[in-house]
Amino acid sequence: MRKLRSRLARSNTAFGRALLGLLSSGKLDEEAWEEVEETLLLSDLGTQATSELMASLKTQVKVDGSSAEDEVRTWLREDLVRLVDPTMDRRIASSRRPTDDGEGRPAVIMVVGVNGTGKTTTVGKLARVLVAEDRDVLLGAADTFRAAAADQLQTWGARVGVPTVRSDRESADPAAVAFDAVKAGIEGEVDVVILDTAGRLHNKTNLMDELGKIKRVVEKQSPVDEVILVLDATTGQNGLRQAEVFAQEVAITGIALTKLDGTAKGGIVVAVQRQLGVPVKLVGLGEGPDDLAPFDPVAFVDAILE
Ligand code: GDP
Repeated sequence: MRKLRSRLARSNTAFGRALLGLLSSGKLDEEAWEEVEETLLLSDLGTQATSELMASLKTQVKVDGSSAEDEVRTWLREDLVRLVDPTMDRRIASSRRPTDDGEGRPAVIMVVGVNGTGKTTTVGKLARVLVAEDRDVLLGAADTFRAAAADQLQTWGARVGVPTVRSDRESADPAAVAFDAVKAGIEGEVDVVILDTAGRLHNKTNLMDELGKIKRVVEKQSPVDEVILVLDATTGQNGLRQAEVFAQEVAITGIALTKLDGTAKGGIVVAVQRQLGVPVKLVGLGEGPDDLAPFDPVAFVDAILE
């Protein structure tokens, strides 16, 4: 988890330090509390979680400013850990082995999200993590809308040493490509098939129909074990609204929160988990192949408060 700490150091820790500073220096009058509230809201924690945290802190932190910083850190840490919710199951479906249920089929992971959020990059990085765990991985380029998308995925595949199933025809049926990828995965006895999907939002209805269709068509051969929604941590409330649109159409099982290296808005972890009722399972901490980490709630809070 050293990576998580060092990558968050530049941004999120500024938010943690600001909070600690505000809560443990001097008298906490109305104005100081407002500043605490503003800092929490600016981190994208959301209004509900912010009020809960404020209420809890108000019962613990001494208003005369006599709380020691260590004490405040302990209270804040406990509250933040509770909000981030370490009880959620964050294992990804790829932890199942093809032989687990005797069916000999691969785990199937669909990755969805708006273009530009880091979907393809996350697919590539996830493949890298799985390869490092000695899994056979196959990628499926079910974003057939732009030829460049399949090229980009294939480049990632080559980079991390896994094959990519794609169509050579532009505008091929994405569900057909997904079907072919899963078929190749079953026949090739791979451990995990990861499907990259389209994410153009200007034609929302079609996109959502398309994602639903991909899932249905894949399910003719194999259950879809995991649907990961990729969300760009820097997009705040806008990103959350988009997340909701996706969640209405496909049952999301986990969130990959990208670009956490470039934002102080780590509170979005709490906001999105509450909004969708599913855990953040992966975090993107940079553009390179090794910049994806499983999300560890306690390490995350510790990094913020470091
Ligand atoms: P897609 O359109 O959703 O498939 O997005 P891409 O995978 O093409 O990524 C869009 C941009 O975001 C690229 O420049 C990526 O390098 C960048 N990106 C993706 N994930 C991260 C991350 O975790 N941190 C940073 N800093 N950049 C990222």
